[in-house]
Amino acid sequence: MNFFQKDIETMPRKDLEALQLERLKNIVAYCYNNTKFYHDKLDKAGVGDGSRIKQLSDIEYIPFTEKSEFRDNYPFGMVAVPHKDIVRVHASSGTTGKPTVGVYTKQDIDIWSDCVARVCAAGGVTEEDIIQISFGYGLFTGALGLHYGLEKLGAMVIPMSSGNTEKQLMMMRDLGVTGLVATPSYALYLSEAVKEGEYPLDAYKLKLGILGSEPCTPEMRETIEKNLGIYVSDNYGMTELGGPGVSGDCFERDGMHFAEDHFLPEIVNPDTGKRLESGETGELIVTTLTKQGMPVLRYRTRDITTLDYEPCKCGRTHVRMSKTKGRTDDMLIIKGVNVFPTQIESVLINIDKIGPHYQLVVRREGNFKDTLEIKVELLDASVLENYGELEKLIRLIQERIKSVLGLQAKITLVPPKTLERFQGKAKRILDLRNEK
Ligand code: ADP
Ligand code: ZN
Repeated sequence: MNFFQKDIETMPRKDLEALQLERLKNIVAYCYNNTKFYHDKLDKAGVGDGSRIKQLSDIEYIPFTEKSEFRDNYPFGMVAVPHKDIVRVHASSGTTGKPTVGVYTKQDIDIWSDCVARVCAAGGVTEEDIIQISFGYGLFTGALGLHYGLEKLGAMVIPMSSGNTEKQLMMMRDLGVTGLVATPSYALYLSEAVKEGEYPLDAYKLKLGILGSEPCTPEMRETIEKNLGIYVSDNYGMTELGGPGVSGDCFERDGMHFAEDHFLPEIVNPDTGKRLESGETGELIVTTLTKQGMPVLRYRTRDITTLDYEPCKCGRTHVRMSKTKGRTDDMLIIKGVNVFPTQIESVLINIDKIGPHYQLVVRREGNFKDTLEIKVELLDASVLENYGELEKLIRLIQERIKSVLGLQAKITLVPPKTLERFQGKAKRILDLRNEK
């Protein structure tokens, strides 16, 4: 097993929880004393500086922080330090609206790098590795986050950024790259380019994929692993909490270990806000325990997942979060059925003759009725010329979707390579509901 900070990662839970409680009390007082935003919010909720917090479950008294509050206080309204102490600013990719910013002190960058290094070590990276970072460099937290973490771990880092497929592949071959950092969608895209390129797979020394920043079903992971001959681990994070490194897979790949010494997670019912038990599925809420620049109390991530506190075979004691089903914003309600794109992806990938690329088109008929069209790429265009076969395939997909998800969808099969490819996060949903 690879560890970056074994003492912390395998700390007995009793000690870990004592550390969390101490840090929770401190961070609540810190927020109260250093930001007007939390001072007002905590006073209004009757929590004040947090001196009434005696045990971890008392966190319940603290009100949630919503994504909209980040937007309302854009850009620096929630910052807790003087400007001179800020050494870096990032911003979210803005998938669901105006971007939110993250600010970092020197200590924030240092802790962030530790958390990312842990995730990379858990995913198999050592100082012997040569890692190509194919996340887009810039405001996005992914590229620089992984960059600093991997350097801290001692790996050799190639800051490739995204785009220019031929050059991506050339650098991989020429420099003997052993690991790839990318979104699953971009890794899939690159894997297809390798398959179709003039060089055989053994011209590459790739063995690891450290993928993250969007949902990746186990089925999609398997496709990428097979195409590139690599082992893939998943890691999770977001700008509001600093970036990647919040949680990541160990070799068991049975849930991503949370960096619990720096982040305190909870699961709540997304409709009522009520706390749920370990093992129940709901919205992930996270409190940053050590952030200085922009600390966050009980942030509503909108990501749907489950927390598992059972000991993991790898020896790490930190809680594991299951792969997210997606964001609450991504959930579609089609004729009364709740469905996440990842659930559709899992069904599609197991069907022969179609590729892993798909698009979901949502339309509104009349005032209320939403319909779903699933566009999927064929692996072989000749199917389009055989009406009987085409019909049969469409029916098969329709039936699988219906039996697994209880959902009636229109299926459209399109020729290979006609759906959009993504270099960052994939945009699978085309929502036409508000268009005439
Ligand atoms: P944006 O919200 O604009 O996409 P971020 O880049 O901060 O900005 O993205 C954070 C979000 O990305 C998370 O809330 C989550 O929905 C998604 N995400 C990040 N990593 C993963 C992962 N490993 N698996 C699933 N979703 C992820
Ligand atoms: Zn583990």
